[in-house]
Amino acid sequence: MIEFCIDAFSQAQSWLFEALIQPLVFGLGGGNLLEDAFAATGWLLVGMLQIAVLLLLLGPLERWRPVEAVTDPAAVRTDVVYTLIHRLGLFRLALFFSIDPLWDSLAGAMRMQGLPTLQIDALWPGVTDIAIVSFCIYLLLLDLVSYWLHRWQHASNLWWALHSLHHSQRQMTMWSDNRNHLLDDLLRSAIFALLARLIGVEPGQFIALVAVSQLMESLQHANLKLGFGPLEYLLVSPRFHRLHHSIGIGHESSGPGTLGGHNFAVLFPVWDIIFGTANFESRWDATGVRDQLPAEGGRDYGRGFWQQQWLGLRRLLS
Ligand SMILES: [Zn+2]
Ligand SMILES: [Zn+2]
Repeated sequence: MIEFCIDAFSQAQSWLFEALIQPLVFGLGGGNLLEDAFAATGWLLVGMLQIAVLLLLLGPLERWRPVEAVTDPAAVRTDVVYTLIHRLGLFRLALFFSIDPLWDSLAGAMRMQGLPTLQIDALWPGVTDIAIVSFCIYLLLLDLVSYWLHRWQHASNLWWALHSLHHSQRQMTMWSDNRNHLLDDLLRSAIFALLARLIGVEPGQFIALVAVSQLMESLQHANLKLGFGPLEYLLVSPRFHRLHHSIGIGHESSGPGTLGGHNFAVLFPVWDIIFGTANFESRWDATGVRDQLPAEGGRDYGRGFWQQQWLGLRRLLS
């Protein structure tokens, strides 16, 4: 089954590349970039598949059991812009020309110097021979790092200035996952791309890892009244992640000296359980940041894409 999916994906990637991307790259005079363009086609294809899943599967689910009525469609439209920028390649393209070459030369230099690069296969020879085993190990490892990065996004005032944009959506839907400040995204993507190189994830597998995580994250943000029952402890559900977005509970310090906030895990709640931040209550509070409430000052996080990005920069600099 997995083999079949990989084969079908490769064929679709080749077809899309030959039919559309290759002529385009040639037309733009980038004949020397064909190999990179082929890899980029993989990302584009993943994004198109994801958007199909959103429209065909998550959309009907949202209409089936919404948590709340959509009263602010304009706010949702802005999130659609974020999703398209991210999943259809614009953001990837930026990474491709900024971060990727940097990490390539860094990883190459480390190898030349004989510095250890934490390749999992070197630490545990043979463990990455079976694709599905290595996939699961990498997924768990990257998810553990995601958990701590997310904790840091909340603990650092500077990083919170950017990450609060993600939390400022008061109308959460399946489009809300990519509503992030571009600097925030750049920072996290750069860390993951470097980490993947250091631990030895193959490029094809890295695409699959990111694709699975992103789809799960779209589901978690959906306007969908759904928990996973006993599986709540294994996989982050819409209920679990929505609590992280709850005003006053999910992401604030609950008093002096205490680390506030719950449910920071991205895929596996086990990290919240181990590190004492899990909350499995079944509650469906309003989402947002406390300082958005009129009684708390009514801070404006912006309506459109550019305004949100600009206000994020201003929060960071102030
Ligand atoms: Zn958060
Ligand atoms: Zn979120």
